[in-house]
Amino acid sequence: MQKWKFDDVTLQRFIVGSLEVNCYLLTTEDAAILIDPGFGEDELISCLELLKDMKSKQVFLTHGHFDHTGFCPELVKKGWKIGIHPDDKFLLNRVPPDFVELGYRDEVFEPYMTIREGVCYNIGGLTLQVVHTPGHSPGSICLIDLKKRLAFTGDTMFADSIGRFDLAGGDEQALMNSLGKLKNLLEPDTLVLSGHGGRAKFSTVLKINPFLAE
Ligand SMILES: [Zn+2]
Ligand SMILES: [Zn+2]
Repeated sequence: MQKWKFDDVTLQRFIVGSLEVNCYLLTTEDAAILIDPGFGEDELISCLELLKDMKSKQVFLTHGHFDHTGFCPELVKKGWKIGIHPDDKFLLNRVPPDFVELGYRDEVFEPYMTIREGVCYNIGGLTLQVVHTPGHSPGSICLIDLKKRLAFTGDTMFADSIGRFDLAGGDEQALMNSLGKLKNLLEPDTLVLSGHGGRAKFSTVLKINPFLAE
């Protein structure tokens, strides 16, 4: 687990499940936001146990693929409120049989809220803005704090690559447009925290990611 501090917000990264999804946990004294809880790893479970009495516990899904959503059924039972973009609801509750064997639970859950383009969510001194970035899936989103230079990009953009566009609802042209949108939005010193793989400053992404190279 990695840990950073942004003013009054603690940010932790857990790598979860056999597809090694980056699950991010943002906490203050009285609120928690969890991004992409794909799998219930022990370390994550014990961290969440400490938060069980917190009033505000929200989960934001960058998209609906099971490797990012797998722990949601358990979290719903524990009072977490799950949010997803409406265009990705159709992807929920679909776990391929091979992955059920690997421990991903095929249990149905209903999201609590839909999250849409332009809406902002605050936690401590951070303001996460929802940016709709379809392509990897129709309802893929990024969560971006433009001022604090922080971007959670899910499977839309990795440090050195981009997400697949050949899965259900994927669209290559839409993904290219979404990358263009991110390019216009992100300052070079933005920390890019993606759904898989390591983190990088956006200035580095522009150099090492062939899909964004100038
Ligand atoms: Zn995905
Ligand atoms: Zn993924």
